[in-house]
Amino acid sequence: MSIAQNMAHVKSTLPDGVTLVAVSKFHPPEIIREACDAGQRIFGESRVQELMAKRPLLPHDIEWHFVGTLQANKVKHIAPFISMIQSVDSAGLLKEVDKQAAKWHRTIRVLLEIYIAEETSKHGFAMDECRTLLREGMATACPNVCIAGLMGMATFTDDMEQAGREFKRLHTFFEEIKNDCPPSDSFTELSMGMSGDYLPAVANGSTMVRIGSAIFGERHY
Ligand SMILES: *Cc1c(COP(=O)(O)O)cnc(C)c1O
Repeated sequence: MSIAQNMAHVKSTLPDGVTLVAVSKFHPPEIIREACDAGQRIFGESRVQELMAKRPLLPHDIEWHFVGTLQANKVKHIAPFISMIQSVDSAGLLKEVDKQAAKWHRTIRVLLEIYIAEETSKHGFAMDECRTLLREGMATACPNVCIAGLMGMATFTDDMEQAGREFKRLHTFFEEIKNDCPPSDSFTELSMGMSGDYLPAVANGSTMVRIGSAIFGERHY
């Protein structure tokens, strides 16, 4: 199937109002352009170097989301243009994003990455830690970032019931933060779900899915 067909299929299975982020990491610009031609404008990348190399070769109205592990010393490269950083996993990284955003007179939208998997390899804040930092005013200390929601990755498993349970826990936490200590007026996004688990993610309240291989095919590392 073509990229346009893959995208049409994914979209047909998403409820209205769920944003599709096409994760284009490891795919060359000509492949990304096929998705652009089919109308996609939000793309996710996970490596700074790769994003910097590809961006000039693609349409300027693309909204780039950063979804991978981000080193603080690389934030400066993406700060001028990044549309959203979905993978803020420490208070130190948030502060650095704030500092770089200020230099460019921007407000950068971010998601706080929350650790929900049973695997130990994934990144993110523990829920308790995140709640404490927000109560202590982490958001007000960073006026040049807008904390627009949360992101989480489930355990990499074929067990969709387990993935569903992990997403449900994050959704409950998201609602709690939204009601008790929202870090911004636009704390509305819950980014959950990848190619293998986006159906249980949307069933459990995801507002944004990050889909790579189901659109672009296998990645060749
Ligand atoms: C690579 C990646 C994705 C997309 O994964 P697929 O399984 O190819 O859909 C989504 N989110 C993050 C954070 C990623 O690194």
